[in-house]
Amino acid sequence: MPHISVVAPVYNEQEITLAALADRVGAALAGITSDYEIILVDDGSRLETWTALCSVASKHPQVKGLRFSRNFGQHPAIAAGIDHASGEWVIVMDSDLQDRPEVIPDLYRKAQEGYDVVFVNRQERPETALYQFCAGVFYRTLNFLSGQKYERRQANYSIVNRKVVEAFRGVPDRDRFYGGTVRWLGFNSTAIDALHGEREYGRPSYNLLGRFRFAFRLIFGFSTRLLYVAIVLGLCFAVVAFALATDIVVYKILNPTLPLPGWPSVMTAVFFTAGVTNVMLGLVGIYVGNLVEHTKNRPIYIVAQKANAND
Ligand code: UDP
Ligand code: MG
Repeated sequence: MPHISVVAPVYNEQEITLAALADRVGAALAGITSDYEIILVDDGSRLETWTALCSVASKHPQVKGLRFSRNFGQHPAIAAGIDHASGEWVIVMDSDLQDRPEVIPDLYRKAQEGYDVVFVNRQERPETALYQFCAGVFYRTLNFLSGQKYERRQANYSIVNRKVVEAFRGVPDRDRFYGGTVRWLGFNSTAIDALHGEREYGRPSYNLLGRFRFAFRLIFGFSTRLLYVAIVLGLCFAVVAFALATDIVVYKILNPTLPLPGWPSVMTAVFFTAGVTNVMLGLVGIYVGNLVEHTKNRPIYIVAQKANAND
């Protein structure tokens, strides 16, 4: 059993990146142990990436590769890496070198103080006030709706011990989100601060739409809070409707001879009700959809090929 397993998802990264990753992780671990493995999970990248990964694996016996049959996503790739990791400690990081391998000794040292989980808080370059404001609103809403404490400075860069790995493997969730699942597991956890690197080669593979899609999966996959929001909204609308009805009754009592203006209020009520009902139906529909996905019980990833890995 290696002392440390490093897991990194790989999507369309270049050979220069993967080679640098293997070198820098090796150098960072030099003072800790020589007994380690690096599990690179190719998340259905272009063929060149797998070729590059195999080439790096042929030079570094510690590097093991898994190749998905198609693009399943970063988090299924992390889950696959964790499923194949046999180390006493497992470090999860991005493969694009933005999670700087030089932080590993600090991460490991912190864990040795008696923590089961240590995350890295990224310290990034100063961002514009507008960006910070938007990000703040986004994460606050996301945390409220998903019922999670999603810390925007924390991504996946972390170290966890065997206990946590075993517990993680036992979570059958389809909407895998590494950080969220690890936080949900509990255990004795903490975080350290570290500078976040620039992407040196290639382009990030997530765009704005991708991030929103991820946020929605987080919201619907991690909690049913939106249904409560729907109920509260429904109750608010009911109160408004009651107030309007009272108003009409009072109007009629005070002006018994005047006719009531009819159709505008009726039409308002009709549209109002239809709108609210449809929103609720939509919400319930999404959760039912999730249930259907769950009952299919499909695997969250499929490994097509392996490099340096026999098990
Ligand atoms: N990644 C992946 N599958 C994807 C998209 C990304 O495995 O579908 C990997 C990618 O290779 C990188 C990490 O996830 O190691 C983070 O991706 P990226 O750098 O694009 O995101 P950002 O750093 O902007 O959050
Ligand atoms: Mg990146």
